[in-house]
Amino acid sequence: MSDEAGSSTRKETALHEHWCEHPGCETWGSFGFAAGKAEPRWFCMEHRPEWKPRHA
Ligand SMILES: [Zn+2]
Repeated sequence: MSDEAGSSTRKETALHEHWCEHPGCETWGSFGFAAGKAEPRWFCMEHRPEWKPRHA
């Protein structure tokens, strides 16, 4: 990987800590949401997206 410039800090942090991604929110992201192969996104209980159960 050669993306040292840019979001490396965020990446390293995400390995061990995941805070709510809501702008300005500094709450621990207790809820992880992964869409397909995208990296999981974390939100606190207040800002978590509406969870829609998958239907096959
Ligand atoms: Zn939040």
